[in-house]
Amino acid sequence: MSAPKDGDDLADWDQSAEGIHYRLGLDVGIDDDQTQGVIVETITRLPRNVAEYAIEQCRFVSVGRANLGITLPGRLLQPNPQESKPEPRWLIVVEDRMPAKWAHSVVAHEIAHAWLKHDRGSPDLPVDCEVQAATLTGEWGFTGRGADVAWHRRQLEKSQALNAAKPATRNRG
Ligand SMILES: [Zn+2]
Repeated sequence: MSAPKDGDDLADWDQSAEGIHYRLGLDVGIDDDQTQGVIVETITRLPRNVAEYAIEQCRFVSVGRANLGITLPGRLLQPNPQESKPEPRWLIVVEDRMPAKWAHSVVAHEIAHAWLKHDRGSPDLPVDCEVQAATLTGEWGFTGRGADVAWHRRQLEKSQALNAAKPATRNRG
């Protein structure tokens, strides 16, 4: 995988499967060919402005199929030196063993969280962030678990019921 040569149409290459693969640095963050393919295919199916956002602001990693952890170079989270682009803002961790029938919707769902600026470290994270991400994923045309609004709503209701049942002293944080 290499950058386009002089004379190539940069704009077209940027949007091609090869261009998306290169710009996301998938060879560094994702070991698994199948998962790399799912990520590229998912991005090509997104609305154009969301696809550009994902390429510029998201980086994807997985731990692979045979590892418990992985150490990756920090440059993964720096702008591509060959492009004058902002620093990536979101690190998306994907499971290589996600069921194939759901895989695209799961990746799109994670991109939806980034697009909706769902910051897990922030107290402003909406309670129904999963339902919001699933709804948007469905609006983008994906089907499967990542776009299953009813399933995510049930999970939210379950966790709310669990929290309500806990003694108040254990509700901190
Ligand atoms: Zn989610």
